[in-house]
Amino acid sequence: MLFSKPLPNELAVGHLYRIWVLNEYGGSDHYNQSLVFSRATKMLRPAGCAHPWTAKHTHAILAYFSGLSETEYRTRHTLLALTKHWRSISDQTPVKETKVPVYSFANFYSESTSASYPFKFCQYCREQDLLAYGMSYWHREHHLPGVDICPIHEVALCQVSWRQAYTTPNPATLEGEQLDEALMQANMHPILSRYRALVLRATNEATHIQYGNAHKHLLERLVKLGLYKKNPSHHCIYTYLKNDLPKYIYTHTPSIWLDRHFSPDYRELTTPTAQVDKFNYHMELNQIEFLGNIKPPLLLLMLAAIFDSTEDIYKLLFTSNPPNGDHATKLA
Ligand SMILES: [Zn+2]
Repeated sequence: MLFSKPLPNELAVGHLYRIWVLNEYGGSDHYNQSLVFSRATKMLRPAGCAHPWTAKHTHAILAYFSGLSETEYRTRHTLLALTKHWRSISDQTPVKETKVPVYSFANFYSESTSASYPFKFCQYCREQDLLAYGMSYWHREHHLPGVDICPIHEVALCQVSWRQAYTTPNPATLEGEQLDEALMQANMHPILSRYRALVLRATNEATHIQYGNAHKHLLERLVKLGLYKKNPSHHCIYTYLKNDLPKYIYTHTPSIWLDRHFSPDYRELTTPTAQVDKFNYHMELNQIEFLGNIKPPLLLLMLAAIFDSTEDIYKLLFTSNPPNGDHATKLA
């Protein structure tokens, strides 16, 4: 079996595809290739290994051959910090891929234009990779939901389809479709610049995140701004009836960006007379009382939309001290 360790900040699914290509595992069924891999390496399972050596634990097996713990591999290479499974990053018990999709992306809307071209690369990063490693790879920071530019070089990313990436884990000569210049300019909008900084830091510092704390402050600020109004005739805790945040977000962020990442339904909400059926729009933007209903990228976008200072949001979102092993407590 040929193996190659993941490169810095390499996207886990790109690493996975490289192992398949190196070992000439044919076909296009992710699960079947994982099955062949786990069977071919079963005799190498170390004594006392905590996780089963099966296709449902492929990332744990890749972590073992990479010299990383299962949690280190998830922390450094997946986008789980931006999904509803963010707590699983630090799980000390084995994580089954049938329950926690460790290779998944974190789109705002699964049917969006953006989601149909999930893989992206930056031409400048690629040149640097070729100099440093003699090859290039799929970077995690180029796959942040809603981010169309390289966070390092601030140039438009090139996009390719899933199938192209599947057979090309080293995109050194791949010709991607360059994203539109106007979309690139939209990404420089202040709300989207703040959002980009937040989503990048949340990915890179996943074990410091306090989504619960940030959510509490989000609700307080929405009430203060008059975007979330309480019904004066009720006194129980969940009596907020009028939520103007969806409309605020849809009218304060560039439409070219919304068109790419959201459902086209958002446009109806931006017209002054529209009667809104909340079930036709992003549920998470309507059910903001309950943190568990909100996808992390939407929470980060809401914070970026209603706070002016990225530094202020950092204080709400991250613990000031590095975690000392009790990750579950820090994430809660
Ligand atoms: Zn770059």
